[in-house]
Amino acid sequence: MVRIKTRREIELIQESCRIVADVLRLVAAKIKPGVTTIELDRLAEEYIRSLGAIPAFKGYGSNKSNLFPATICASIDDVVVHGIPSKRALREGELLSVDVGVKKDGYFGDGAATFAVGKISEEKQRLMDATKESLMQGIEAAVVGNKIHDISHAVQEYVEERGYSVVRDLVGHGVGLELHEEPAVPNFGKPGTGMKLQEGMTLAIEPMVNAGTWQVRFAADGWTVLTQDGKPSAHFEHSIAIIDGKPEILTK
Ligand code: MG
Repeated sequence: MVRIKTRREIELIQESCRIVADVLRLVAAKIKPGVTTIELDRLAEEYIRSLGAIPAFKGYGSNKSNLFPATICASIDDVVVHGIPSKRALREGELLSVDVGVKKDGYFGDGAATFAVGKISEEKQRLMDATKESLMQGIEAAVVGNKIHDISHAVQEYVEERGYSVVRDLVGHGVGLELHEEPAVPNFGKPGTGMKLQEGMTLAIEPMVNAGTWQVRFAADGWTVLTQDGKPSAHFEHSIAIIDGKPEILTK
């Protein structure tokens, strides 16, 4: 069931989304060669808790014996998403995707961004830029009068025109009263199909873009998702609300 939010609910979701955006800025400022992702995770968790909010990813999962152990997902290079922070230090030239979810006063926000570690190759820079822009293209399509797959198609078209591919196994989602709600927001699809976009919908739009094949594989830890061909991947995500028929970015 898709949950349509009131203005008041959207304001509360926006509170969590602002914290998400702050965390991404805070973490981004610390990213450099030599820093470990567990240090970034600690920083994120301390900041979130200092505001009386809760890291929404920590303890998340359907398998009770393998819940997600951290505040952020830290996904390096060919890790697409859901990388677990570790003591492994970042290296010059890597891409680091950081995903974070926050719950405050019962409402959820979700956002992600990919960052360069030191100086990166032009190839990685282009992948990162294309992924970020594909998110903006998707958001622009999130208007009343359109359907869910108009968002999906806008992302897919932008990405594939540049020779990259969109991940199929993982998708964006409704967000707000839960971390993951209906509807699914794929990054591929046929325009003019899917559910009608409505006033008061809150969606997490999140293109995961691979430099090579769209296929992914799942690591033995039950979380880490990697590209099948070992080529790099980037990920950007905003939570948005449809207000007055138009998309408003909440994780700004
Ligand atoms: Mg998400």
